[in-house]
Amino acid sequence: MSAAALASLPVHSSRPDGAALAVQLRAAGIGKRRILHDITLALPRGRWTAVVGPNGAGKSTLLRVLAGLLPCDGQVQLLGRALDEWSTRERARQLAWLGQQEGGGEDLRAWDIVMLGRLPHRAWLAAPTAQDQAVVAAALRDTRAWDLRERRLGELSGGERQRVLLARLLAVQAPVMLMDEPLAHLDPPHQADWLATVRALVAGGRCVVSVLHELNMALQADDIVIIRAGRVLHHGGADQPDTHRALQQAFDGRVAIRQVGRDWVALPRQTAEETIHAD
Ligand code: ADP
Ligand code: MG
Repeated sequence: MSAAALASLPVHSSRPDGAALAVQLRAAGIGKRRILHDITLALPRGRWTAVVGPNGAGKSTLLRVLAGLLPCDGQVQLLGRALDEWSTRERARQLAWLGQQEGGGEDLRAWDIVMLGRLPHRAWLAAPTAQDQAVVAAALRDTRAWDLRERRLGELSGGERQRVLLARLLAVQAPVMLMDEPLAHLDPPHQADWLATVRALVAGGRCVVSVLHELNMALQADDIVIIRAGRVLHHGGADQPDTHRALQQAFDGRVAIRQVGRDWVALPRQTAEETIHAD
């Protein structure tokens, strides 16, 4: 099964219309520390949303709230239903998650790690079906991790490990996919593979949300959510001038957004000034 085939598998949802994922919260935090404040967001299906913002702004915290991994003072809705109304198993089929710097499973083979993504689909204690095997193989091929399938997770390089974890996320075939810094450790060719996979996923109707610190990659998304100091500073189209202005503001004017051919790129400010100078 190719990337396109994997991505075009039917998306099951209880509601064909409305946001795939929506949050309305007054606050969220860890312990006594309040990290997010007054956030309202609706993330549509069939689109890729990049979440960006300065270090420590609360991007990972927001993603964990959206995934139901961190409670909040407010509500998260997945496919039109409150997160806590889903059974754990059903929710795990609808929402796939890749965390930042995920640990665990170091002794497992890459193949078995990716098979974990099939758990929500499998009957209790049942052996993997031919369909599970096919999906795992396709996911490993999509992230070019097929040759790593017999290796143990703990012995892989950072980029190899990340590709295996991405394959696990793909193997869930969830209509909503959340990824925190999915490009960590990936070299440019594997970043390009990831981009192609994401485009195929959203073309198949999925909702993809990724925290990215690579602004140039984020500018290729459909929409950008900018988080600053625990609040949403802006949510808009990645090609929109107001989004570019908000990005510059979020990074204290230390980046400039310029058009190069058909793409938008973010340049460190000094470089942008040099570019203007050279014009
Ligand atoms: P980002 O992903 O945008 O870099 P995070 O969401 O990881 O930021 O963190 C937001 C803020 O919350 C930071 O100030 C960070 O130090 C704090 N924070 C994150 N995790 C914890 C934790 N486990 N305990 C206390 N504070 C935390
Ligand atoms: Mg983070």
